[in-house]
Amino acid sequence: MRIALFGPPGAGKGTQTALLEPMFGLQSVSTGNLIRSAVHDDSPFGRELGAYIEDGGLVPDEIVQKLAEDRLREYDFNNFILDGFPRTVVQAVWLRELLETNKAPIQVVISMAVPDEIIIERLSQRRIHKITCEPYHLTLRPPPADIDPDLIVQRSDDRIEAIKVRLDTYRKMTRPVADFYQKSGLLTEISGDGTSTEIRNQIIKVLESRSVLQVA
Ligand code: AMP
Repeated sequence: MRIALFGPPGAGKGTQTALLEPMFGLQSVSTGNLIRSAVHDDSPFGRELGAYIEDGGLVPDEIVQKLAEDRLREYDFNNFILDGFPRTVVQAVWLRELLETNKAPIQVVISMAVPDEIIIERLSQRRIHKITCEPYHLTLRPPPADIDPDLIVQRSDDRIEAIKVRLDTYRKMTRPVADFYQKSGLLTEISGDGTSTEIRNQIIKVLESRSVLQVA
């Protein structure tokens, strides 16, 4: 299976990826996680990436493409779920070529639509585990009491000023990627407003209706 989850920041792509991975034996290509783990390395490269993401802007296409390609190659271009990639039309065109060359085109792109007010609420309430990157929500899914509170942090790009930049960047740079996939006939939009189980079930229905998932 070769699928992509598309949507604004805070749409729940990471949450759904984590649910679908074990369910269908998928491996994720989450460029956000790849970038954050490079930032944690505290190398000159990591610091360069950190400066890009800090305020909510995008990392340059060539850098993200290299990170994604290395990961896709590791997975033999199969059984992958893309989370937060591609995020520009340049990346989408590049990816189409890479996957066509490797005879592994994307089968479906699921776009998760969520209103801005919900995104802002979700992201400003989000906290993550410093080491595992497990996401929590201060009220809906608070971090368990037995976790050292010092390990629960707010991503710098989840500050309200950075969220606004990310939403703006999404509209200008990333939303056109949906049109790109719409024209290729690969896009299906679902609502990303609901419980994670409801949304997961909607995604499974899309996979079935697109014959990506054979129903037993
Ligand atoms: P995410 O965890 O997917 O929200 O990504 C966090 C940040 O990493 C984004 O706000 C961008 O700065 C950067 N990033 C992640 N994926 C990409 C991508 N495909 N292209 C450019 N920048 C990206």
